[in-house]
Amino acid sequence: LTTDAQVVQRESESISTKKLRSHAEKFEFQAEVSRLMDIIINSLYSNRDIFLRELISNASDALDKIRFLSLTDKTVLGEGDDAKLEIQIKLDKDKKILTIRDRGIGMTKEDLIKNLGTIAKSGTAAFLDKMQKGGDLNLIGQFGVGFYSVYLAADYVEVISKHNDDKQYIWESKADGAFAVAEDTENEPLGRGTEIRIHLKDDASEYLEQDKLTELVKKYSEFINFPIYLWASKE
Ligand code: ADP
Ligand code: MG
Repeated sequence: LTTDAQVVQRESESISTKKLRSHAEKFEFQAEVSRLMDIIINSLYSNRDIFLRELISNASDALDKIRFLSLTDKTVLGEGDDAKLEIQIKLDKDKKILTIRDRGIGMTKEDLIKNLGTIAKSGTAAFLDKMQKGGDLNLIGQFGVGFYSVYLAADYVEVISKHNDDKQYIWESKADGAFAVAEDTENEPLGRGTEIRIHLKDDASEYLEQDKLTELVKKYSEFINFPIYLWASKE
C-alpha cells in the first residue's frame, strides 16, 4: 500500500483466539478475496461506518429477491413472521455482538460457499488495484464485494442463513484465509433469511452505543424500502 493511501496497515491485535467449529467443513477463500479481507481487517480506515450501509444494502437486496419471487408464487413467503419483509438490528452489549437479520431470500449451503468466499467477482481484482493506488475504501460496494467491509468492525463473523430450498447453515470466519460452513443445529430456526453476527473488534465498541447506531441506521435506510427495527440489550 502507498503511504498516502487512506488505508494503513496495522498490527492485528484483537483477533479472537476462538477456534472455528471443529465439526464444520473448512474452505479457503479464493486468493484475491483473501488479500482483500486481509487489507480490510487490518485497515485503520476512519470511515468504518460504511460496513453498516453494505450489510443493510445486502439485506434489502435479499428482501427484493423474495418479494419478486412472491409475485408469481405467494407460498414462497410462508406464514406469520416469515412473511414480514423486514430487517432487524440487535445489540448485545455484554457479548459485544451486533446482529443484522433479514427475512430475505436466504442462502443455501452452496450459496454461502460461493458467494461468501470461493468465487471471485471481477470486481475483486479491480478493487484491490484501486486500493493499491490509494483509492477510497468507501467505494467497496461498487465493486461487488461490500460484504467483506464487515471486517472493518469485526474480527469474527457468523452468517446464519436459511433458504427455502435447503436446511439452515452457519458460515463463520476470522478473516484469516479460511472459513467454515456447517449445518446449523445450535441456533433458533430463522424460518427464512439471513442473520449476520458481527463480533466487534475491541476498538469498535462505538457500534454498541444505541445513539450512534440509531443515527447510522437513519442515514443508511434513506433509500431502503423495507422497515428496519433496532433493539438494544438492557444496560
Ligand atoms: P453484492 O451485494 O454487490 O453482490 P456483496 O459482497 O455485498 O456483493 O455480497 C455478495 C453476495 O453475497 C451477494 O451478491 C449475495 O448473493 C450474497 N449475500 C450477501 N448478503 C446476503 C443476505 N443478507 N442475504 C442473501 N444473500 C446475501
Ligand atoms: Mg452488497
